[in-house]
Amino acid sequence: MKKTVTETLHDGVQLSFAVEEVLHEEATGHQRLQLIRNRRFGKVLLLDGAVQVTSADEFMYHEMMAHVPLMAHGDPADVLIIGGGDCGLAEEVLKHRRVKSLTQVEIDASVVDFARQHFGEFNAPVFDDPRFSVEIGDGSAFARETDRRFDVVLVDSTDPAGPGAVLFTREFYGNLKRILKPGGIAVTQNSVPFLQKNEFVAGFGALASVFPVARPYVVAVPTYFGGFMTLGWASDSEQALQVDQKTLEERAAGMETRYYTPALHQAAFVLPRYIADLAEKA
Ligand code: SAM
Repeated sequence: MKKTVTETLHDGVQLSFAVEEVLHEEATGHQRLQLIRNRRFGKVLLLDGAVQVTSADEFMYHEMMAHVPLMAHGDPADVLIIGGGDCGLAEEVLKHRRVKSLTQVEIDASVVDFARQHFGEFNAPVFDDPRFSVEIGDGSAFARETDRRFDVVLVDSTDPAGPGAVLFTREFYGNLKRILKPGGIAVTQNSVPFLQKNEFVAGFGALASVFPVARPYVVAVPTYFGGFMTLGWASDSEQALQVDQKTLEERAAGMETRYYTPALHQAAFVLPRYIADLAEKA
């Protein structure tokens, strides 16, 4: 029988990948890392049994997490990524010429080293870019302790279990608010509401209890199955949500994307009723 790897993230329903080749398996000290090759998705990275990134669909999530806040902000000079070990998000952020510094705080050095070796097809430009630096450490401790301030903070974390759990708490979101400049924007991974109802309500509820402006927006990613996944937008101001399509088109001119468009940027904030209802309850 053909070997498969099965994601163990959800109770009662699972996603299995036929394995063409096992490329790597390791216990990193923080989490269990597996890399396999699948015919449809290319290289598939799992941490603690949850799919993190695949070479075929990484652009969908990374483009929507990066370009929506960065295009809306207009002058995102200082950007922080928390998590984001595979560096696919960093690649999208660095496409923005107005970004002067990008700091990434990732808890697990081996994910970054590993992704550098195995996902060069999308993250190679990141490591040669002088604007980019990585700090190894817990993102919640960084947010609590740093004196730096950022225009945009992107929380590209694992799901709310294990080392990623602290990145969904009220205390952490309070520290995110502290390290944003006025008018700054934070975007967080906010789960797949259909399959992770409790995680969505708890995570979005914590965000909305801290920030005066909090809105979920949607992106469909094949390997985060179960309908739309949501990203949580948070800010002290409505202003960046009101940027019109013409301005977004001017800012996006000349940038190569495969998922993001200015029209989709605006449409992503239009929620299916079941997600709007959950957000209301949060
Ligand atoms: N970019 C990916 C995608 O396409 O969805 C997924 C997420 S990325 C691999 C998630 C990263 O968050 C992992 O590398 C993990 O080590 C990191 N992480 C988890 N908890 C963390 C914490 N408390 N501080 C910093 N990084 C953390």
